Amino acid sequence: MQDERCAICGWPLVADTDRGCVRGNCSMRPTPETFYDFDRACLEYEKEFDEARRSNKEAPTPSVLTSKWGRTAQRDELKPCPFCGTKAISQGRLANNWTEEQWRIQCGNPFCLVMCVTQTFALFDDAVRAWESRRTAEETE
Ligand SMILES: [Zn+2]
Ligand SMILES: [Zn+2]
Repeated sequence: MQDERCAICGWPLVADTDRGCVRGNCSMRPTPETFYDFDRACLEYEKEFDEARRSNKEAPTPSVLTSKWGRTAQRDELKPCPFCGTKAISQGRLANNWTEEQWRIQCGNPFCLVMCVTQTFALFDDAVRAWESRRTAEETE
């Protein structure tokens, strides 16, 4: 059961790196300070990581409870920002001690004058749906 998750960041493993982590190739940048499963990470990556990255799973540190937004990826397939036209990016993180995924889609331009971002969703596809839902001028009149 636990093996279904990335040994480093704790995300459920996926089939290809575009969508997340595959075994032996964590997509989290930067690498988390503490690993989800330190011993398994050493096995899968065939190297000894710094012991400081071993997390105490019995007493998770507060920083683990809601990790920083990461896993940022440009999303060419999505509509661009409706204001500045920059391509959208997706961001993900884990909350509640590794168990809950959180996703959002936002404008990829840090200098966007509006900086639109979706609400936070548990499912990546729901965040996409929110980002892609645009009203035309006729619909809003
Ligand atoms: Zn990972
Ligand atoms: Zn924008």
